[in-house]
Amino acid sequence: MTATPAAPVTQDVVTIPRRASEEGLPNLVGLTRAQMREALLAVGVPERQLKMRLNQLWQWIYHWGVRDFAAMTNLAKDFRATLAANFRLELPEVVSRQVSADGTRKYLVRIAGGHEVETVYIPEEGRGTLCISSQVGCTLTCSFCHTGTQRLVRNLTAAEIVGQVMLARDDLGEWPEPGTGTGDAGPRLLSNIVLMGMGEPLYNFENVRDAMLVVMDGEGIALGRRRITLSTSGVVPEIARTASEIGCLLAVSFHATTDAVRDVLVPINKRWNIEALLESLRAYPKASNSERITFEYVMLDGVNDTDEDARRLVGLLDGIPAKVNLIPFNEWPGAPYRRSSNNRIRAFATILMQAGYASPIRTPRGEDIMAACGQLKSATERERKSRRQIEAEAGL
Ligand code: SAH
Ligand code: SF4
Repeated sequence: MTATPAAPVTQDVVTIPRRASEEGLPNLVGLTRAQMREALLAVGVPERQLKMRLNQLWQWIYHWGVRDFAAMTNLAKDFRATLAANFRLELPEVVSRQVSADGTRKYLVRIAGGHEVETVYIPEEGRGTLCISSQVGCTLTCSFCHTGTQRLVRNLTAAEIVGQVMLARDDLGEWPEPGTGTGDAGPRLLSNIVLMGMGEPLYNFENVRDAMLVVMDGEGIALGRRRITLSTSGVVPEIARTASEIGCLLAVSFHATTDAVRDVLVPINKRWNIEALLESLRAYPKASNSERITFEYVMLDGVNDTDEDARRLVGLLDGIPAKVNLIPFNEWPGAPYRRSSNNRIRAFATILMQAGYASPIRTPRGEDIMAACGQLKSATERERKSRRQIEAEAGL
């Protein structure tokens, strides 16, 4: 099978005049409310005005998407001047944008240090999902994942994570006119966020948490916690923290029904095995007051896709409010696996459905621009490291 349908691809090179500066004034983007409050205090905003000033500024930045202090017309002129003299409002730079035949948009985003990550916007009927990255590369080495062949360069900052949401809203033209509300113009174009891009979000916990707190804030971008899904390969100690400190929906890259197979597909399993992972997941819905956990399961021909696997999976899910998302394997150059046949995937899904589990088969999106799950990898990352080298670096 081929993952590349013949389809028109457009690519604009977007030039943004100001490059993401590595030095200079502190960036207000990505600060939590508490951090922004401290920043305002430090430039002399009197205590008694702090709350009001913070609310006004927050609304300009996150509700109306304004990045020029001078345009924040309901702020006193001298306060605007103080802000401009002390702070910047800056997003990462969009290097290029590719649009798939199916409407999926992939942004190549440059962050400080010249590193690059990818962000993908997936339009759907009545909604749109933004898939954001949390790290440059990934320290983990899941054997079916393209990102896993790229060594980790660094964690993204909270500003760079929130920045991906803001640059997508810029591109979609989705900020309300200053002075107006968000709501009445019908469904939002960017209505959901999945932390399923490059990187393991729970290995960058604090920055991911702070960024999501900014995105969820009701007086700004205001995406509710049930509109955000964090996907983890199974960093067990951070799962309880995700429930208590973020409270978003959880997806887990499960992918196998025995430790022997999962050790190979998702090597973090050697540290926290299936039993340890399931134990942490049992506690999640109650702790986060959220709905079902999504079990992601990539369908790999002859590796994890038998009827026996499906039945074993049903057994493992017992007692956990769950749905299973079956992901047809997205191929990438040099990938060591093949996608299971459609018949096999359907047979697997049937067993799960008969046991009472919703098990949608994920439709690959944006394959023609290498934007589908697991295909992301920095375009400039030419160096392919050997598995052994990556594993040695990751201490696995
Ligand atoms: N690091 C996190 C989130 C990013 S990956 C995690 O592993 O959960 C998002 C999802 O895509 C994961 O379920 C991942 O296992 C899956 N994935 C990775 N490579 C894939 C591929 N080539 N085809 C299909 N799904 C893939
Ligand atoms: Fe990292 Fe997730 Fe890819 Fe595994 S599947 S290598 S954890 S990005």
